[in-house]
Amino acid sequence: MKKPSIVYAPLGTRGFDPIRTDRCLECDSSDIAVGEARGWTEGNRVIEELPVECRSCGASYKLRYIGILDEGRRVATIVDVLSPEGEELGWLGVC
Ligand SMILES: [Zn+2]
Repeated sequence: MKKPSIVYAPLGTRGFDPIRTDRCLECDSSDIAVGEARGWTEGNRVIEELPVECRSCGASYKLRYIGILDEGRRVATIVDVLSPEGEELGWLGVC
């Protein structure tokens, strides 16, 4: 699955702000190590989890991309943030 490097997070009344997924979510460093992706399919959703570790501040988390398919075509991708243990930390955005 092609992964977007920018997602748009809903921020209440401020509209949508772009977030760089190729930078650390904690300290904005681009010095991150991306681990091996794990992917699977659930019905019309293609799910991929990507472990990320920041070499700069030591933060580690997982990005979960959920591609929504309509008749085999990707119509949207939702990006969630998870702890390294798989605990959901929140919704990062859509693209
Ligand atoms: Zn960092």
